[in-house]
Amino acid sequence: MIEFINVGKTYPNNVKALDNINLKMEKGEFVAIIGMSGAGKSTLIRCINRMHDITEGEIVVDGVKVSSLKGKEIRTFRRRIGMIFQSFHLVTRSSVLKNVLVSFVPELPFWRKVTGIFSKEQKVKALTALDKVGILDKAYVRVDQLSGGQQQRVALARTLAQNPDIILADEPIASLDPVTARQVMDDFTTINRETDMSIIINIHHVEMALEYADRIIGVREGKIVYDGRAAEVTQEV
Ligand code: ADP
Ligand code: ADP
Repeated sequence: MIEFINVGKTYPNNVKALDNINLKMEKGEFVAIIGMSGAGKSTLIRCINRMHDITEGEIVVDGVKVSSLKGKEIRTFRRRIGMIFQSFHLVTRSSVLKNVLVSFVPELPFWRKVTGIFSKEQKVKALTALDKVGILDKAYVRVDQLSGGQQQRVALARTLAQNPDIILADEPIASLDPVTARQVMDDFTTINRETDMSIIINIHHVEMALEYADRIIGVREGKIVYDGRAAEVTQEV
């Protein structure tokens, strides 16, 4: 469903972050992108939803050429792709529930003023998503009262409520302690098992990648240097 065809990405400062990337990811796969800092992992993930534009080749998602999308088409396309960041990207002074509800109105910049407009159905969806990641009891708590692990689960719930086809997670556990990192990875595993969402996660913690993902893609200096089943990865990767 996601295909990279001879993809290259050179930033305006002439850094070539991606160099002739070819790969295919199927629906429902749990893929971990691994590699050292600066290898190009984040760029690779962010080109899938057009957070970054590629400079060579083509990325095709479900038959759609990503680089050919314009304006409103990009927004519609992004509705199908959930994005999770290392730094959570939550409105910390608002409640957990409001942060999840915002997934229903991402195009409204002043969404905080319109929190009254959500339908009962949307609230039920948001609460269901919070239940799925184990923080339903925090629904009415302000985000800044939560631990880092709990905040990442709010971000995950927000993405789940959006019901995307694909979840892109850019270093989702990098700022978490080992115990909460595992809880978040367990959530990804549960979501992957219980839905047919594809999960693509960029992670520099190799052991965690091997333990949780089905497929490992190793990146070095903008190139794919390994692509295979997690169970078959050997020491030298
Ligand atoms: P990783 O996620 O593996 O750490 P990145 O994709 O963030 O790697 O970065 C790949 C390379 O591109 C690095 O050399 C980085 O400095 C560079 N880079 C990343 N983002 C930008 C940007 N917005 N502008 C210029 N260079 C960038
Ligand atoms: P987040 O916490 O949202 O994951 P990051 O720390 O990964 O954010 O990156 C912040 C921003 O800095 C990104 O938009 C990335 O493209 C940009 N960036 C990363 N490396 C470079 C670089 N070498 N030069 C310029 N911009 C960069």
